[in-house]
Amino acid sequence: MSQQTTLAVVIPKFADFVKHLPTVDELAACDEEKLRQLWSGLGYYARARNLKKGAQCIVERRNGNFPQSYQEWLEIPGCGPYTAAAIASICCHEKVACVDGNVIRVVSRLLALQDVWSSLGQSAIQAYVTRIQPDNRPGDFNQAMMELGATVCRKTKPQCLLCPLQEHCLAFAKNCIELCPPKKPRRDAVNVELFAVVIWRKTTDAIAIVTRTKGFLSNTVGFPLIPESEVEEAKKLLKSLPYLELFELQNTFSHNITHHRISGKVLVAQEIENASVLWHRLNLPQPFYWVARSNLTSKLSTSLDNKVFRIFHTELK
Ligand code: SF4
Repeated sequence: MSQQTTLAVVIPKFADFVKHLPTVDELAACDEEKLRQLWSGLGYYARARNLKKGAQCIVERRNGNFPQSYQEWLEIPGCGPYTAAAIASICCHEKVACVDGNVIRVVSRLLALQDVWSSLGQSAIQAYVTRIQPDNRPGDFNQAMMELGATVCRKTKPQCLLCPLQEHCLAFAKNCIELCPPKKPRRDAVNVELFAVVIWRKTTDAIAIVTRTKGFLSNTVGFPLIPESEVEEAKKLLKSLPYLELFELQNTFSHNITHHRISGKVLVAQEIENASVLWHRLNLPQPFYWVARSNLTSKLSTSLDNKVFRIFHTELK
């Protein structure tokens, strides 16, 4: 949960999550709607799906027995080398190094290393941490390294005078801490233009939402999203439906998702009279269902959808 989400947000959500799903069997059997509700506000819903897939794998393929080693954890869907190393060292006391951004920073400074982002640099750091990790309490060692990076050897203003590693630290000795590690080269973000379609049944003030099955934010619940390149065709189709009025809202939204900078517009497809029978012609992801406006925010699973809804709600009170 705390991958890309701050602990302050995670802690109450975690408590609620384990209260409702206290065992691996319950997580494996949890229905999608309940999982979404428990995950709402944490973002990156793919992590929830992976957790459930992992739980299903443990229940179905391992009779509910948790893996007992790094290699076995790697076989669980959604569990990569970092997670496997963290669980194996902390829960199974296996000697396997756990290297996250905090540990990279500590090692980069300890050894005054600048080549830390290339694959060669990454393997050197992994090898170094593996070499210094003790046989005794490897999980505590991993947590101590991560904690040292998070609280003492911080990105800015490292607390060198309090640091237990100061006398071994080359960057401190050479006075080059600010060069270690160098900034991570960033991938340029791609600009994307999207239209979010709010299908509005004015007579009952209900709005149709879907489970998106492809493209951006797939497998999340919200408004249909149409890439700019397909919007003209979609508009033509929407306009061809009788009893329907199509218009664009004034306000726009922006949203960033890993390496994508989204600018979005909101299209409202307003149903003047009940046109249920015609909706199938839109080829929307199925199923789509109607939710009362007053109840909608509890059903939306992403912050992008909440932005879209706020625009709609403000302009069409
Ligand atoms: Fe980090 Fe300073 Fe400690 Fe070196 S001495 S490891 S730079 S906190």
